[in-house]
Amino acid sequence: MAKSRFEYVRNFERENLLLPETHIIIRVDGRGFHKFSEKYEFDKPNDDRALKVMNLSACQLMNQIPDIMMAYGDSDEYSFLLRKQCDMFERREFKLITTFGSTFSANYQYFWSSVCSDKPLTVERLPTFDARAVVYPSDDTIKDYFRWRQVDCHINNLYNTTFWNLVIKGGMTPHDAENKLIGTVSADKNEILFKQFGINYNDEPEIYKKGTLYIRDSVITPTEANTRDLTKRQLERLQKRLKKSEIKELHCDIIKDEFWDDRPWLLC
Ligand code: ATP
Ligand code: ATP
Ligand code: MG
Ligand code: MG
Ligand code: MG
Ligand code: MG
Repeated sequence: MAKSRFEYVRNFERENLLLPETHIIIRVDGRGFHKFSEKYEFDKPNDDRALKVMNLSACQLMNQIPDIMMAYGDSDEYSFLLRKQCDMFERREFKLITTFGSTFSANYQYFWSSVCSDKPLTVERLPTFDARAVVYPSDDTIKDYFRWRQVDCHINNLYNTTFWNLVIKGGMTPHDAENKLIGTVSADKNEILFKQFGINYNDEPEIYKKGTLYIRDSVITPTEANTRDLTKRQLERLQKRLKKSEIKELHCDIIKDEFWDDRPWLLC
């Protein structure tokens, strides 16, 4: 196409290319979901159908983007790990994060309308997600990233479970329940749950305590994982295999080394 005299304004655009040959993690998080969950009357502390919509959306994103090796999420957030040699959008950060945020939001709206068809979305409060990308320099920092998110899930879930039991079953006001929990440690919350409500926190569903994990099957060879310049044909074949690979859902511990030691291909 012929260049117009206005074309110079393109020079004002800026790109951020994410460091090559490093893992990228992209995390999406729902905007204002505290309010969203009130407006659409989520069950507290955990609304199963809302979790299902998140999980369907994340799994679908993995179908849409074969470079995602694993995903971990809870509440209104999901983190996606891209393989080291991923060259999607030439690793342009803004293309990546806007695509993840918008595709996840579109998926969420799509699945919401089938899973929660009794609660139609209104245009004044639609579910949308922001996204950020971070590159991590080593396998250890990647593992610690996911451990960090799972610990966060556990801490929040223990707090929310205690808080909502005090409010719903204990008849406390949210304000009083909040005050009661100030300065408490995990053991205190476990004790409140057990003594006051007969709940053994360990018996709570794994999906609440551990979050949800999607992992791709092992279909990348070590050579493919580490070769800098695969030919176009090799790359196409790899993408095809990734696209067809099985995706498993898990609700397990990702803090212990065992999880990672058993699945080395996730970090390829
Ligand atoms: P921000 O826009 O800054 O992310 P936010 O209101 O979304 O603000 P978060 O820290 O992301 O704040 O918290 C998400 C909130 O969404 C939780 O605190 C919880 O109240 C609610 N929520 C998300 N998923 C569920 C669910 N499945 N069941 C019940 N509540 C949920
Ligand atoms: P990329 O993902 O790189 O943006 P793209 O296929 O979206 O790729 P664009 O340069 O954004 O490429 O072009 C958008 C294309 O969408 C147009 O070339 C045109 O074919 C099509 N298109 C968009 N809006 C309309 C419309 N209202 N009517 C007909 N075609 C449209
Ligand atoms: Mg937040
Ligand atoms: Mg949020
Ligand atoms: Mg959140
Ligand atoms: Mg376009």
